[in-house]
Amino acid sequence: MATVKRYSIFCPKCNHKFPVFAMVPHTVDVNTWMKDKADNHDCKAYADQMAKERAPRPINPLKASKKGA
Ligand SMILES: [Zn+2]
Repeated sequence: MATVKRYSIFCPKCNHKFPVFAMVPHTVDVNTWMKDKADNHDCKAYADQMAKERAPRPINPLKASKKGA
Protein backbone atom coordinates (compact mmCIF):
# COMPACT_ATOMS: atom_id res chain seq x y z
CA MET A 1 0.00 0.00 0.00
CA ALA A 2 1.24 3.45 -0.92
CA THR A 3 1.83 6.01 1.79
CA VAL A 4 1.67 9.78 1.69
CA LYS A 5 5.08 11.24 1.09
CA ARG A 6 6.45 14.71 0.80
CA TYR A 7 7.91 15.48 -2.58
CA SER A 8 9.97 18.54 -3.30
CA ILE A 9 9.21 19.51 -6.86
CA PHE A 10 11.15 22.06 -8.83
CA CYS A 11 9.20 24.27 -11.19
CA PRO A 12 11.34 25.47 -14.12
CA LYS A 13 8.76 28.11 -15.01
CA CYS A 14 9.05 30.19 -11.82
CA ASN A 15 12.32 28.65 -10.57
CA HIS A 16 10.83 27.60 -7.27
CA LYS A 17 10.79 24.41 -5.34
CA PHE A 18 7.45 23.59 -3.84
CA PRO A 19 6.40 20.76 -1.57
CA VAL A 20 3.68 18.37 -2.59
CA PHE A 21 2.19 15.81 -0.27
CA ALA A 22 0.87 12.93 -2.26
CA MET A 23 0.34 9.24 -2.51
CA VAL A 24 1.91 8.13 -5.74
CA PRO A 25 0.80 4.65 -6.72
CA HIS A 26 3.50 2.14 -7.51
CA THR A 27 2.18 1.88 -11.03
CA VAL A 28 3.10 5.52 -11.63
CA ASP A 29 6.63 6.54 -12.47
CA VAL A 30 7.57 9.14 -9.85
CA ASN A 31 9.80 11.14 -12.19
CA THR A 32 7.05 11.42 -14.76
CA TRP A 33 4.59 12.30 -12.04
CA MET A 34 6.87 15.01 -10.65
CA LYS A 35 7.43 16.46 -14.10
CA ASP A 36 3.68 16.54 -14.59
CA LYS A 37 3.27 18.36 -11.28
CA ALA A 38 5.90 20.91 -12.27
CA ASP A 39 4.21 21.42 -15.63
CA ASN A 40 0.92 22.10 -13.90
CA HIS A 41 2.35 24.34 -11.22
CA ASP A 42 0.16 27.33 -10.48
CA CYS A 43 3.06 29.77 -10.52
CA LYS A 44 0.94 32.84 -9.91
CA ALA A 45 -0.84 31.39 -6.91
CA TYR A 46 2.49 30.24 -5.53
CA ALA A 47 4.06 33.67 -6.03
CA ASP A 48 1.07 35.28 -4.32
CA GLN A 49 1.38 32.91 -1.40
CA MET A 50 5.10 33.59 -1.09
CA ALA A 51 4.53 37.33 -1.22
CA LYS A 52 1.97 37.05 1.54
CA GLU A 53 4.33 35.05 3.73
CA ARG A 54 7.22 37.41 3.17
CA ALA A 55 5.25 40.62 3.46
CA PRO A 56 6.09 42.75 6.48
CA ARG A 57 3.48 43.08 9.18
CA PRO A 58 0.81 45.56 8.16
CA ILE A 59 1.41 48.98 9.58
CA ASN A 60 -1.05 50.04 12.22
CA PRO A 61 -3.27 52.46 10.27
CA LEU A 62 -3.83 54.63 13.37
CA LYS A 63 -0.13 55.06 14.02
CA ALA A 64 0.56 55.67 10.35
CA SER A 65 -2.03 58.42 10.11
CA LYS A 66 -0.75 60.07 13.29
CA LYS A 67 2.78 60.06 11.96
CA GLY A 68 1.60 61.62 8.72
CA ALA A 69 -0.36 64.37 10.46
ZN1 LIG B 1 5.95 27.51 -10.98
